[in-house]
Amino acid sequence: MRGKAFLVGSGPGGLGLLTFRAREVIDSADVILYDQLPGDEILSTLPPDAERIDCGKFGGDHTLEQREIEEIMIARVMEGKRVVRLKGGDPFLFGRGGEELEALREHGVPVEVVPGVTSAIAVPECVGIPVTHRRYASAVTVITGHEDPTKPESALDWEVLARLRGTIVILMGVKNLPGIAAALMEHGKNPLTPVAVIERGLRTDQRVTVGPLGEIAEIAKERGVSPPAVIVIGDVVHLYDESHLPR
Ligand code: SAH
Repeated sequence: MRGKAFLVGSGPGGLGLLTFRAREVIDSADVILYDQLPGDEILSTLPPDAERIDCGKFGGDHTLEQREIEEIMIARVMEGKRVVRLKGGDPFLFGRGGEELEALREHGVPVEVVPGVTSAIAVPECVGIPVTHRRYASAVTVITGHEDPTKPESALDWEVLARLRGTIVILMGVKNLPGIAAALMEHGKNPLTPVAVIERGLRTDQRVTVGPLGEIAEIAKERGVSPPAVIVIGDVVHLYDESHLPR
């Protein structure tokens, strides 16, 4: 069977961090399903003769449900097509790549996974912030900020997170930043812990906001911080340096 599915990471945005394998499978794809996270620079280089499906804007304004995305992928592979599911960063760090893999496997669809450079590491890195450092942090925890910490059913243990002596990297955390900062401090995290919020990392309109945990939510609000952004909490933020702006 020629048909095959590819779960492909685009990197954090910009052609420089798209892997060689990702470029190869994109260029030979019959169908590409994507959303806006990979960014214009990459999305403008999708092969014009491939069928392109914008999962965020399908047939007007309709956003494709996860199940619909999986169904389209399976159906196209069964037709013998090479189907690329292009995802921002790495396909298996949030963004539901794992669920897509399960659905494809269940239907006996051959799948290749193409790892990508994750924003969780690359975005801080490109403003000079290493997520670990011998002097500042021997561990890094990457969490989703999608969970509202004020809800009792939060899947994250904020007490444990507050106690961890390492870096916390938060994806999808802009909206809940006030609640997240409050939950961490409530469980004992020092309000002076430095925080960096990097919006649209590695894009031409990248912007960085830095402040102490106790004030970051207010500062971010004043500056109108908006997604996508990577939030880094921990002493490694002391190494923040503007001169690492992307080329
Ligand atoms: N799989 C992706 C993450 C998907 S979740 C990865 O490995 O990077 C989507 C979140 O990723 C966004 O809400 C944001 O927190 C983060 N993100 C992805 N690309 C980004 C970028 N270029 N700049 C800032 N944040 C980014």
